[in-house]
Amino acid sequence: MSPSLTTDVLITGAGPAGLLLACELAAEGIDTTVIERDAERPRRSRGFNLNARSLDLLARRGLAAPFLAEGRPTPHGPFTGLPVALPMPGAATDHPFTLGIPQLRIEQILEEHALGHGARLLRGHRLTALDQGPEGTTARADGPDGPVEVTAGHTVGCDGGRSTVRKQAGIGFPGTEASSWTLLGDVVPADTDALPPGPAAGPGGDVLVLPRTGYVRVLLADPDPPADRDAPVTPAGFARALEDALGRPVPLAGHLWLTRFGDAARLADRYRAGRVLLAGDAAHIHPPAGAVGVNVAIEDAHNLGWKLARTVRGSAPEGLLDSYEAERRPAAERVLAATRAQALLAGRDPALEPLKDLLTRVFDRPAAATALAESLLGLDTAHPMGAADPGAHPWLGRLAPDLDLVADGRRTRLSALVAGRRPLLLAFNGADLPLPERAEAAGAAVVRAQCGDPQGAEAALLRPDGHTAWVRARGGRATGDLEDALARWCGTAGGRLTAPVAGPVPGGR
Ligand SMILES: Cc1cc2nc3c(=O)[nH]c(=O)nc-3n(C[C@H](O)[C@H](O)[C@H](O)COP(=O)(O)OP(=O)(O)OC[C@H]3O[C@@H](n4cnc5c(N)ncnc54)[C@H](O)[C@@H]3O)c2cc1C
Repeated sequence: MSPSLTTDVLITGAGPAGLLLACELAAEGIDTTVIERDAERPRRSRGFNLNARSLDLLARRGLAAPFLAEGRPTPHGPFTGLPVALPMPGAATDHPFTLGIPQLRIEQILEEHALGHGARLLRGHRLTALDQGPEGTTARADGPDGPVEVTAGHTVGCDGGRSTVRKQAGIGFPGTEASSWTLLGDVVPADTDALPPGPAAGPGGDVLVLPRTGYVRVLLADPDPPADRDAPVTPAGFARALEDALGRPVPLAGHLWLTRFGDAARLADRYRAGRVLLAGDAAHIHPPAGAVGVNVAIEDAHNLGWKLARTVRGSAPEGLLDSYEAERRPAAERVLAATRAQALLAGRDPALEPLKDLLTRVFDRPAAATALAESLLGLDTAHPMGAADPGAHPWLGRLAPDLDLVADGRRTRLSALVAGRRPLLLAFNGADLPLPERAEAAGAAVVRAQCGDPQGAEAALLRPDGHTAWVRARGGRATGDLEDALARWCGTAGGRLTAPVAGPVPGGR
């Protein structure tokens, strides 16, 4: 008989989605097991950035500081296909920059946090089969010492675009096949001047060179992809494609990684099938244009973690877990559209020239460029809050800004209060606080805070992820009924956690 393991939540895949979800669940005291197919972490990074929205979300978990300490901020965001630099809209984020940091480091930092909170990580375990019944899921995995059976209350597939969990759960993955392929080479040129950083238009195609420490990342169209797209890219084949594109040979002293990727775009038709859920690339794949995949995975995990934790504990209000799909699937639809648009604009089709010209002129205007940045980075995310009146206050549905506060006589920031993982009912500057007993009974922390500029709000209810569920503006106009918001997002007192309400001022912004 196979060895067996029982856990509250089984996460398949230790990429950014799986590892942040493990942090979220383990920090809430949920018994969490991650199984990862690879015995060792890959040596090369696919992604190289955390965007403003990811940093805002990580800050709501006290997790931004280690990334900020070692990443390199750039004051604009990536956009593929047009000569525009996306400005970072300071009003919409607490982190108005893109942070350059390799995906491998992002994963290492998340893994340390997940393990530190008590999550279990089993490397070298490949999920092969998954069943579910009314009480839970049963997974089978091939481990280094043979088959292992894992019984869990819920299983989350964070196992990438070819997700076994998704297939086993019978969730469809409709979309478009890749129609063009890109070669990626992390290479060391024999002469560094031969591949200067930036885009280069050669007689045979465009080449993008991105500087990295000790090497360059080179991207160019794969003119002749083999029938088996997973066939390795050979050094000779890569050198030939580069020479054909630039119209000159580029001697290479070595290479670290050669691969190809396509522009397929697919979206899971459901994010949940019973006790099985999907997050990250398992739920959506899109062209890498715009460099958002890691960041979308982080948003998924951040959105799902607190909802699944409360569901496991039995304290979630009706429908809380389903709000994950309701909020994140439309966001993925927007990401698919935006990345496909960028991939199109990056193409050489002359028919697109008038469109490129028009868009370049429009996005030359600061207001248009800012709106584009907010949309591409998800900084305009406003979750639907039922029948509430969005006109009553701009915070509704959005991440409340990371205000400087004095609460319980201590200086703090709103993000540090959110990191306590409880809903927050806030009253600013002595304003009357409605329904405090009801809020406490629902597990919310009730906080009276002094704040220099609460942006027209005098009281607010924040969900445990920092998004605003209810606001009363100065003068008394509220976005809706606080009782309804408490019932919808907070549930019962069983959700109460012992985490501190007022934390220290977090380092860095
Ligand atoms: C060339 C390229 C460049 C990119 N650049 C960027 C960028 O600059 N910025 C950005 O934000 N994004 C970028 N991306 C996208 C980004 O890498 C992905 O979107 C991101 O890794 C998705 O995270 P994930 O956790 O959902 O999945 P993954 O990172 O794919 O992790 C899935 C994990 O599941 C494991 N797994 C798979 N099957 C099983 C199984 N059966 N059992 C157990 N484990 C399993 C895998 O080994 C893997 O570790 C890029 C992608 C590519 C291809």
